[in-house]
Amino acid sequence: MPITPFHFGPGAFLKAIAPRQVSWTAFALANGLIDLEPILLFLFTGEPAHRFFHTLPGATLAALAAVWPGRIACASWLRFWNRQLSPAQARWLGCEPSINTRQALVGALLGAWSHLILDMAMHVDVRPLWPAIGTNPWHGWMSVDGLHVLCTAAALAGLALWGALKLVKRS
Ligand SMILES: [Zn+2]
Repeated sequence: MPITPFHFGPGAFLKAIAPRQVSWTAFALANGLIDLEPILLFLFTGEPAHRFFHTLPGATLAALAAVWPGRIACASWLRFWNRQLSPAQARWLGCEPSINTRQALVGALLGAWSHLILDMAMHVDVRPLWPAIGTNPWHGWMSVDGLHVLCTAAALAGLALWGALKLVKRS
């Protein structure tokens, strides 16, 4: 993915179908940490390459960092978010500010591993199963347009489901 936020769409869908099992913020943080790699490499070398953090061991390590210490940062961010909301907004947009370790772990691992599945379709230098397999035989498993449609559709489906659940809870 050229733009990290596209990765958040599948996270929104997973959060909507399993709200108590998945931390969306940990999902998003794991994705952000993984994409620091091509961003920093671009800044320092001019080439947005995908290296260790776009492999299963590297992405899993990024996920663990999103759990600890990331979970603490995610919970702080949720408390900050809640404080910005008026009481009327909070009824719709307020969220549970605590994240337990299991929710963070599930969210972060799903975020990291889905990141590899999506990125390996787009970037030939992503090596998801390194060191066992040093190449990317899955490059192009889905077209770039297909990836964008998939991620956007997942985000919209997640938002629709989340809105419907809020309506049901309020009625
Ligand atoms: Zn990436």
